[in-house]
Amino acid sequence: MKISRRAEAVPASATIAVTARAQQLKAQGVDVVGFGAGEPDFDTPDYIKQAAIKALNEGETKYTPAAGLPRLKAVIADKLKKENHLDYSADQVIINIGGKHSVYLVMQALLDAGDEVILPAPYWVTYPEAVKLAGGVAKVITTDKANSYKITPQQLAGAVTDRTVMLILNSPNNPGGFTYTPKQLSVLAEVLEGTAVCVLSDEIYEKLIYGRTRFVSFASLSKDAFARTLTLNGLSKTFSMTGWRLGYTAGPLEVIKAMARLQSHMTSNAVTFGQYAAIAALTDPVADKVIEDMRAEFERRGKFMARRLNGIDGVECLEPTGAFYCFPDVSAHYGRNIKGTRINGSGDFARALLDQANVAVVPGRPFGCDENVRLSFACSLDDISKGLDRLEKWLSQ
Ligand code: PMP
Repeated sequence: MKISRRAEAVPASATIAVTARAQQLKAQGVDVVGFGAGEPDFDTPDYIKQAAIKALNEGETKYTPAAGLPRLKAVIADKLKKENHLDYSADQVIINIGGKHSVYLVMQALLDAGDEVILPAPYWVTYPEAVKLAGGVAKVITTDKANSYKITPQQLAGAVTDRTVMLILNSPNNPGGFTYTPKQLSVLAEVLEGTAVCVLSDEIYEKLIYGRTRFVSFASLSKDAFARTLTLNGLSKTFSMTGWRLGYTAGPLEVIKAMARLQSHMTSNAVTFGQYAAIAALTDPVADKVIEDMRAEFERRGKFMARRLNGIDGVECLEPTGAFYCFPDVSAHYGRNIKGTRINGSGDFARALLDQANVAVVPGRPFGCDENVRLSFACSLDDISKGLDRLEKWLSQ
């Protein structure tokens, strides 16, 4: 059969590909240390599972409104008010089938052919593909390691054209846990004042922040920022609910309505009993402790991983201030021959490391940064130790 040009133009997700290859090797009995995972290694907290079971037992197995259960939308509006200082009504919230679906729908709702989207690199692999699928053009801005891989106001001002429709911000970020300070975000918000550029603020890692890092929602910075921002979030990372597929978007009513119209034909509502579980996840008094326990554990691991990486010759890693990834620069090793394999970029590096030393990392190239590789620390300290021992030994030959 003929495959559409649209589908042909989209590569499979690199992160999912690495995880699949590592799992395949594991199934063959190979002792692989996997740093590929884009999901917490903790189980979903029991109180959330129990809420889903209760909903099932009570017969909550039918459609809800396409944009989501009114009660869940109200709970999310309330959360955004209390925690993020954002004054959205429940109608300004839509529940999507995961944050990935939220990103897709935002692009479908806002972009026309040729519209430009400013995308600071390194970026999450899905953004450029979602832009492309909507006919938009991603204008990638390469950030500087010296600026902790964050876009500067000068870079932003220089990137805005009369075709620019959107800026994507993701803080804390995937793939490196880079987090903008409130001041840095304010300065970016000022650059956009007087323009027609909207902002997609992907805040899915808001709760996973470390050290003295402070999280602030972009839309809370000013009235102007609020009016031009779509705030995206979900339950996958905060509550270790990746398989539940629950994301949400809040923003101007006309955009949320457009997303709801699209969603009503594409997927309809997110899984009904999952939405009931989401209400429990967000409102149960135990939530804060559950989140803090996970956050503290990730912080320990992230510090440890970054320290170990920086101890390896030719590897430079900024300590992550959020999320659960390290994104070290390994380009000092490019041009080398390791066990007969020439390492010319992050793809060669990741392939050879997996094949020769049984350590799975994700190449930086699909994140827009070929000098780096991504290592997830959603695994035990023992695994981190074992995997980095292997990496160090592999690089030292
Ligand atoms: N945004 C970012 C930056 C992510 O890393 C992810 C997950 N990899 C998502 C959104 C979406 O997650 P989900 O679809 O599971 O909600």
